[in-house]
Amino acid sequence: NPMQLWTAVDDYVAARLIGEDEVLDAAVEAADRAGLPQIAVAANQGKLLNLLARMQGARRILEIGTLAGYSAIWLARALPADGTLTTLELDPAHAEVAVANLERAGLGDRVEVRIGAARDTLRQLTEEGVEPYDLVFVDADKANIPHYVEASLALTRPGSVFVVDNVVRDGELADEQSTDAAVRGVQQLHELIAGDKRLDATTVQTVGSRGYDGFTLIRVEG
Ligand code: SAM
Repeated sequence: NPMQLWTAVDDYVAARLIGEDEVLDAAVEAADRAGLPQIAVAANQGKLLNLLARMQGARRILEIGTLAGYSAIWLARALPADGTLTTLELDPAHAEVAVANLERAGLGDRVEVRIGAARDTLRQLTEEGVEPYDLVFVDADKANIPHYVEASLALTRPGSVFVVDNVVRDGELADEQSTDAAVRGVQQLHELIAGDKRLDATTVQTVGSRGYDGFTLIRVEG
């Protein structure tokens, strides 16, 4: 069973490079207790987001898809004291758990959870004329990925970075005949990037406790 092997390697890595983390454990427990779906990033993926944010020197981070705030904790921990994370969530019940988790993590002052359909919230942020984001993590409904990247592009600057999660989808990314809305979404993402000279990107396949999937990393060039 490849899943058992992939999970064993994730556990090996987490034990050595991540270690015990009561705040993250408490966040997962609160999410489970509230009956939220178990679809947060794995610990080693959260750590990747944290490392990327610090490598990028990110002061302003935008997340689309909060759930219980697990990845938000990893991202917000990468921020300097004057940094901010804005995270967008459709479901008020998810947002409520996330706000409590972020408060418990001591990150409440650095994170704003905005409730609503991300399409609408992105439009609001654009109208508000917010400062550009240095890093954008896209992890909500997959059919809307192309829209989220296009809309967020107006909220970034040259040098900003996007991480788009769950783009490989058990390899269905390469199935040109697929009619699945999420698969079409990640395929359109690749077409959008290929057709936009401002964007440079790659997609990396991953295996682990979350199965076979992958992410797209994009740099805004100009
Ligand atoms: N990033 C989170 C983590 O790793 O801890 C996991 C996010 S989960 C995969 C996706 C979230 O996106 C869910 O909480 C879902 O309610 C939210 N979502 C779905 N459709 C949305 C929309 N149209 N606008 C904003 N959020 C949405």
